[in-house]
Amino acid sequence: MDGAGTAGISTRLKTFIITTMLLALTALAGWGIYAIPGPVVDHMLESDLRHRAVQMGRQVESQLYDLQVSFERHILSQHDLAFLALLPETSDIYRFKLFDASGQVFWSTRESDVGSVNTKPYFADVVAMGNLFYKHAEKPIAEVDSLDTHQLEGFDTNTRHVAEIYAPVVQNGRFLGAIEFNSDITDVRNLFISRVRLSLIVVSTVVLLALSTVSLVVYRTNQRQLGVLELRAQKERALMDDQLRLAREVRLLGELNEWLQSSRSLDELFDMVSRFMTHILPESEGSVYVYSNSRDVLDGCASWNGGAHKAHIHPEGCWGLRRGRTYEFGASEIDFVCEHAEPHDGRPYFCFPILAHGEAVGLLHLRALEGREACFHKSRKLAQPCAEQISMAIANDRMRDQLHDQSVRDPLTGLFNRRHMTETLRKSISRSQQTGAALSLIAVDVDHFKKFNDTHGHDAGDMVLRAVGGALEQSCDRDEVACRVGGEEFMLILPDNTPEDAMTRAEQLRQAIEAVAVRYGEKALPRITISVGVAHYPKHGTMPQDLMRAADDALYVAKDQGRNQVQVAGESQIQPKRSEADSDPKNSDAA
Ligand code: GH3
Ligand code: MG
Ligand code: MG
Repeated sequence: MDGAGTAGISTRLKTFIITTMLLALTALAGWGIYAIPGPVVDHMLESDLRHRAVQMGRQVESQLYDLQVSFERHILSQHDLAFLALLPETSDIYRFKLFDASGQVFWSTRESDVGSVNTKPYFADVVAMGNLFYKHAEKPIAEVDSLDTHQLEGFDTNTRHVAEIYAPVVQNGRFLGAIEFNSDITDVRNLFISRVRLSLIVVSTVVLLALSTVSLVVYRTNQRQLGVLELRAQKERALMDDQLRLAREVRLLGELNEWLQSSRSLDELFDMVSRFMTHILPESEGSVYVYSNSRDVLDGCASWNGGAHKAHIHPEGCWGLRRGRTYEFGASEIDFVCEHAEPHDGRPYFCFPILAHGEAVGLLHLRALEGREACFHKSRKLAQPCAEQISMAIANDRMRDQLHDQSVRDPLTGLFNRRHMTETLRKSISRSQQTGAALSLIAVDVDHFKKFNDTHGHDAGDMVLRAVGGALEQSCDRDEVACRVGGEEFMLILPDNTPEDAMTRAEQLRQAIEAVAVRYGEKALPRITISVGVAHYPKHGTMPQDLMRAADDALYVAKDQGRNQVQVAGESQIQPKRSEADSDPKNSDAA
């Protein structure tokens, strides 16, 4: 469990504890407000009444004419009686009695009490020992003298709180008797209780409010801390996710790079791109275009993740290619849709020009999948290195193609060279051996070319050689191969051509070259002619060298017979005139 989780539990626990404590305190305060004031007020009243009883006792002792005579012989003077009768009226005492030492009442505010004897144990045990005795009791209303019963109407109680105090009368250390004061303390008691209760209510409310405030502050602080912890945990999780995503992207980019480096052809390369891009950028569909050889259009090569590519697009129709940098549709307030992105439904897209050695060789087009538009713009960061890797791979592929071309093509005419021809002828023979298909070889040599060169110059000769190469190339069908095997010597491999077909083709070729018109600057160069020799497999040879020699021999016969004509190998009685050096066809390679 993380820090935020633990903090969450401890905060909930604290909240629970604080709430429970507050509720318990409230209940305790309620109970206190109900239960505490009674005993407290009773205690306060007791000490107050004791004090007053002592004072009144002294007052009685000092006012009586002869204390000893009064208490021992029950004799009271007129003055004494007048004073005693006045005493209850000047105080809250409703009953007042005088006892002698034996406990007999010898004077009372209630005459019926006179003569009665107090036999209660406290009289002998406490009062007679010189101590004051206090007793708090609830008595029926009827027992309380001089009560205005009208005032009590409406009260639901029939009892009154009464304080009984027995104050000893002692003279020179001798117990003479006692004075009983009975006070009705109901009203003052109730008043004090309500005041104490009010004070308690105020105090408890203040305390509870203070505690609640403190608790609230603690709770809020905890909540804030919890929020901060959760936010931090979220950030950490997001950071971790980012790092994992980044690691995956880096890994996939590395793998893409490795695979692209090992691709052998553009088709294979685009297949790899399609599969990787689906994984690397799953929120976008895409397509790749590459410039055609003529460079006027780009050819659609591959598409993935639901994307579709057009067969051809025009470079001017793409804002990325036109401006030579990545174009992001949907990032600015005003955007223009590329022609190749039509029909367009408003989804954002990128156009990354694919560059090889600084030159645009293609286009990587990525478009947001439906519903993934929001996160699409983030993919630019990853799409950019992908485009760079694809660019690099295409550049490598181009370079490999160029190197290969350089090794198999003749730079002047663009036709295949002698080495490639020999190799192709070997393969064609092998195929014909297996399938029994027909195969013919045509050897071509420009007539009197030395003279042409001497007359019109080497450059004009080169132009003628290029024109001848172009005518030969044009005459070739799908599997047929035209090669320049030497200075002004060419050969054509014609698979699936019967001897008759080959003868017809050779004658057509001769006529086509005769018709070639070449201009050199302002000047129209004279027409040239060719001599042609034809050989068939397997009749004139089963090895490349044999077949080439047979075609060459036929060519020499054509030269001997007057040039500008076609001869088939072995059909003429005239032996070809060859120098020693010419006997091997390889030696005729002057290129
Ligand atoms: P023939 O009718 O018997 O074939 O006579 P020819 O003059 O064509 O034959 P030859 O073998 O005597 O001369 C071949 C000439 O081709 C020699 C050379 O000046 C020319 N040649 C060879 N390679 C090139 C080339 O690359 N460019 C140009 N302009 N001329 C070339
Ligand atoms: Mg020649
Ligand atoms: Mg020649």
